[in-house]
Amino acid sequence: MNQPSTQSSPAPRTGLGVYVQVPFCQAKCSYCNFSTGVFRSELYGSYAEAVRQEILRHATLYRSTGLRRWQNETPQFAAETLYIGGGTPSLLDPAALARMVQAVRDAFPGPLAEVTLEADPETITEEKARAWRDAGFNRISLGAQSFDDRELKAVGRRHRRADIYAAAQALGAAGFDNLSFDLIAGLPHQTAESWQASLDALLDLAPAHISIYMLELDEGSRLGRESLAGGARYGVPALPDDDAAADFYERACEQLARRGYEHYEISNWALPGRRSLHNIKYWRREPYLGFGSGAHSFDGVERFSNLHVPTDYVAAIRDGRAALDHRETLDSRQSLEEELFLGLRQLEGIDLARIENRYRVALGDLVRPLAEEGLVEMVDGRLRLVPSRLTVSSEVFVRLLA
Ligand code: SF4
Repeated sequence: MNQPSTQSSPAPRTGLGVYVQVPFCQAKCSYCNFSTGVFRSELYGSYAEAVRQEILRHATLYRSTGLRRWQNETPQFAAETLYIGGGTPSLLDPAALARMVQAVRDAFPGPLAEVTLEADPETITEEKARAWRDAGFNRISLGAQSFDDRELKAVGRRHRRADIYAAAQALGAAGFDNLSFDLIAGLPHQTAESWQASLDALLDLAPAHISIYMLELDEGSRLGRESLAGGARYGVPALPDDDAAADFYERACEQLARRGYEHYEISNWALPGRRSLHNIKYWRREPYLGFGSGAHSFDGVERFSNLHVPTDYVAAIRDGRAALDHRETLDSRQSLEEELFLGLRQLEGIDLARIENRYRVALGDLVRPLAEEGLVEMVDGRLRLVPSRLTVSSEVFVRLLA
């Protein structure tokens, strides 16, 4: 029988997700609504060094801001995942990326089970891929988006179909076996045939992980603004309609399932054992720290983010100041909304009773009509979106969060 120890033992360390934002791109894609852009390459080196400094000195930097949890409890956190995203982080010197990985190992010693780099196909060479492997990256997320050159060109992507194959070959030769490919459903010029061709090409490559996003048309991108204004630039007249895009997504759901991919989040599929450990932390609201301009962090209660302008960010870190831009302590209502919105993105759904207990709410009146309309269902005590109705998930979220 286990006896309670009379000695004080150190508290177990929580698996921390670490994110690094690299906001640099070679060109701005017409559909992009991220806080990224084209910057002179002279900035890359000083930016990478600022990120390294921010990681290593985070406790000191946070001290001046009153972010006490991270300042006092950071030693309890062991990095479990690192995700360097953007932007196009594969533009950076591999040696600078290696120094970032090492900084995370030094600041948050831990298992670092998953170390992901986002890369655009045209930026990948065998030499770089080997250097990334040597630096400790064990997963590459490749922004393929489409295998159709006309679609890629229409939205301003720099790579072409041939670059995707060359990238996959270089990464495989360097020893990467955990690759994730992104596709976008709803691009200008996309048709049922071209979508099927992209899906076929992707499944032939059989990556461990696949993300499929529906094109978002909002005020945050040139394509979105043009479309909302009824204009004709950026390929707006060649956009497939909503029904066609939804059909593309549903077709992907069927075909990926047939090929053994587990659909575990609205936009994400993985072969068994290959789910993204890092992204799961976001959907489960586990703690993560973000470094770099515009990066977001969360400790379970408070969300905070860094300055967005890369030069402002670099200047702050260089001057020994925290680059904090915004912080917000979530109240109970906001936390509940996040539990629903993020939790229901996962196909396994949410433990409804746990959430009702935790937030002292009864959600039955909200959930019942959605269940009667076949949009959500209870399975083994968990509430989830009905898998065949995922294309109307935004309607469910609007009604649940109203
Ligand atoms: S490469 Fe990615 S982050 Fe950069 S502009 Fe294109 S979509 Fe946006």
